[in-house]
Amino acid sequence: MTRATYITTSWDDGHPLDLRIAALLSKHGLTGTFYVPMTAENGTMTAAQIRDLRSAFEIGAHTIHHAVLTKLTKERAWQEIMGSKCWLEDVTGRRCSMFCPPTGAFSHSHVEMIQRAGFVGLRTVELGSLDLPRQRSGLALMPTTVQAYPHGLPAFARNAIKRMAFANLWRALFNGRSKDWSQLARVLLDKAIDGGGAFHLWGHSWELHDSSQWRRLDDVLRFMHDALGDALSVTNAQLARLSLTSEHNDDTTQDRSIDVTWTKR
Ligand SMILES: [Zn+2]
Repeated sequence: MTRATYITTSWDDGHPLDLRIAALLSKHGLTGTFYVPMTAENGTMTAAQIRDLRSAFEIGAHTIHHAVLTKLTKERAWQEIMGSKCWLEDVTGRRCSMFCPPTGAFSHSHVEMIQRAGFVGLRTVELGSLDLPRQRSGLALMPTTVQAYPHGLPAFARNAIKRMAFANLWRALFNGRSKDWSQLARVLLDKAIDGGGAFHLWGHSWELHDSSQWRRLDDVLRFMHDALGDALSVTNAQLARLSLTSEHNDDTTQDRSIDVTWTKR
């Protein structure tokens, strides 16, 4: 049996330019998850803009103040994790199921807090992966595939070289040839369609803007759209739930108990 392929996207920091990404995703029939803090260095959307975005996309938590969890006391980290969920649920009137730690920094104690707060999944900044989310303490840990940013390539190199599965791909792509993240996206999407798994594009709208990547993003989303005959477009939470309820999972009871016990509104 051929393994299924899923396509998802995620966008961090809640900058008002997220609305431009949302328009491009809609144009290409794709979905995804926007991780929105209440405040961030580069500015954030208004509550009305967040509600607008929520009408068509998933909104995930990204702490309240775009705070790096590993730099906080446990008490503050908990406030940032739990507080961001409460705030977004108040703003949108919808359940907030996904969490993404700013800069990708977190420790085991944060994984437990994120699970205890009632989130279903945690998106990491691990790059170069086509794996479905893996479970830890009843939480779906979700890696990514490609960052929509040219300077993301060195980060991809550091990540990919550790992963033997991608060593050959890395050499083929970057031995004096492509320096283009859209090339990388294309090759990895083809690989996902061939072998199954999850293709996860992520980025920051403000960063795409600063590095003039809008046209390139449009091109990438176009070929992601073209892959929809062979792959299913899902939000991060849909992908997380899929992995938590798969037949290989022995931990579904815990996930359901989160659904039932989460009552804050
Ligand atoms: Zn961020």
